[in-house]
This record gives sequence, C-alpha cells and structure tokens, in this order.
Amino acid sequence: MRRLIVATCAAAYLLLTTGFANAAQGVCNCDDMSQIQQRIDLASAAIDAYTNQFLSTNTGTAFTMAGHDKVETAVAQAVNAASDGLGNPFVKSVPSDTSRWLCKIAIYDEGATECMKASLQTHESVHQNACESQWKWYRQWPTLDAFIKEEIDGYTAEHSFLLGERSRLLCSCPYYALRVTGLGMTQLQASGESVSGHADVNGSSSAPGVDVPLKIEGGHVSGEGSGTLNNQVTGTGMAQCSINSGEKITLSVNGEFTRPPATSLHFDLTGKPDKEKTQGVCSMPGKVVSIDQTSPTNAVTFAQDIYRLDTPASEDFPLAPGITWTIRSELIVKEPWPQTKASNGRGSPVGDALHLIGMPDCST
Ligand SMILES: [Zn+2]
Repeated sequence: MRRLIVATCAAAYLLLTTGFANAAQGVCNCDDMSQIQQRIDLASAAIDAYTNQFLSTNTGTAFTMAGHDKVETAVAQAVNAASDGLGNPFVKSVPSDTSRWLCKIAIYDEGATECMKASLQTHESVHQNACESQWKWYRQWPTLDAFIKEEIDGYTAEHSFLLGERSRLLCSCPYYALRVTGLGMTQLQASGESVSGHADVNGSSSAPGVDVPLKIEGGHVSGEGSGTLNNQVTGTGMAQCSINSGEKITLSVNGEFTRPPATSLHFDLTGKPDKEKTQGVCSMPGKVVSIDQTSPTNAVTFAQDIYRLDTPASEDFPLAPGITWTIRSELIVKEPWPQTKASNGRGSPVGDALHLIGMPDCST
C-alpha cells in the first residue's frame, strides 16, 4: 500500500487479474472467523473508497506523492468511518508491504495468524505481479489512477480469498445449535374431575430448553440432543397422569440451509418420548387421554423455517386432547464460540462475527 511502484499501461491490469489467489484456500481455522469478517469488511470499505477516488480522478492524471497522500488520507477516513465494530486482527498499522526495488513481499506483523498472513499475501501478490511486470523498469506509477486501480485489485483479490474461506468455515465448523424449548399445557375436564398442569423440557445447558448441536454437510444439517421432561400436573378427584418429571426426551434434527427466497433453516424436528410412559398419559373416570397410541415410536415430526440467528420460530403441537405443546426453536451460536477468539487472542470472539453475518447459505 505504501510504496512507489510502477504500472505502465492498462494491459498490466489484465495480467494482474490472472495473478490472484496465490494463498491456498483451507489455511484458515474455525476460530479465525472474527478476524476474517473484520478483514472482509475492511477490504469492502477500501474497495468502495478507492473506487470513489478512481471515479473522481481524471484518467491520465500525473502521479505525484501529494496526489498519492491525498488519496490515502481520504481512503483511511472512509475505512475508519465504516468500522464494523470487530477487533483489529493486526497490531501494526502497516502489516505488510511489497518492496519497490526487489518486488519482495514482507509481512511485518509476525504475530498474525496464518490465515491473516495468507490474506495479506494475496493482496501483496497483486503488487508483486505489478512490480515484476512493470516497476522493475519504471519504479513508479505512470498515473495516479493507475496507482488507485492497483489497490482496488489488491483488495479485491484479498476480499475474494476471504469470502472463500468464510463460506468454507461457515458450512463446516460446528458453530451452530438448534435450541428447542417446549412448553406443555395440560387442561382436562370431565364430570367434576379435572387435571391441569404445565411441562417443559430442559437439557444440560444452563439456558432453558435442549440444545441440539448441528452438523452441516453441504446444505444439510442434522443433529441429536436430549433433555429431561419436567412435568407438573395436579388433579382433582380420581384424575391422575402418568407422565412424571425426569423422563428422558430425545430430539433429532434433519434439515437444510436454503435459499431462496431468503436464507433460512428448514428442518424437521423429531421428538421421542418413551412409549411405555406415555401410552396412557392421563386418566380420569371414564376417560383416558393417550398420546398417539398407534405410533410405534410416539415421535412427533414437524417442519419449520427459521430465517435469522436467535429468532425463534414456534409451533403448537396438539399432543393429545387437552394436552398441547408449544415448541419453540431457534438457531444459536453454540458454546464455546460466543467467547472464542483466534489462536493469537486478537480481535473479537467468533460469536460476534457470526451474529454480524447472520444465517449462512450452505446450499450452493
Ligand atoms: Zn495494497
């Protein structure tokens, strides 16, 4: 970014666009997501800012250091103003450079992650290609617009590398869980007898509900979770219910991240209460309320769509006459990602980036 380099003609930029992607895809890890997102947002802001400078610079404007500094100041202001709030992955204000005499790339920020080094390398490779094809003879840009264009190309290459890594990680790292909370209402009445109560299901997490960790393969999501039924019913007279607190409930999820119309999580949630314990749920003289006596598994399956992180979808499920469950489910960032930072401890936790990104699209 801060060097005198040369690019003599438009043909050089055609050459540059074929020299991208020197950094290998696959170098970034699940814990790098926040740094990746911060750098994507910075690159986007830089591309926009340099593009504005490019559009307001007449083609063929002579390159001067004063012109260069003016562009850099304007870009820095625009980039700072566009901050996404995620922490900076670099501790050096100029983390990398390409030398103008030897065309050598230097990564100054030695504590940067391999992922961020690969990102910088991708950017600097654009300058290196320009250097090897042009600067060796001229050592300076012919025009101010040529300098600006080269930075646009550098950030575009870096942006493209990071987007590739982001897509790969979003759709393969164990970032997500489906949090399922169920609230059961029992309200039975017959000839002077009545049973009323409420129930819920809780898992091992301190939060209410059962977290089902999701595994993503391609666009397909699946997972299993289990919880314990807490049931409190009180009856009058002879009425009684046979589901007690402490019964284990298992949940399984099958679905996909889809688009269109909007990115959403479409899934089937299957719950399996113990058949033995639920066959005759509640009884009162002359009446037995049962759950799905004909089904061998007593499984309940329903489909839902969720369009955002942390946005519950809910569905009422009539379990039996007089007994209704409202099942709420939401896509959440699974532990430990809300607190996890990259290996060098810099930047923001992964969860902060995932909330900025929202629902991934793994269907393509
Ligand atoms: Zn640059």
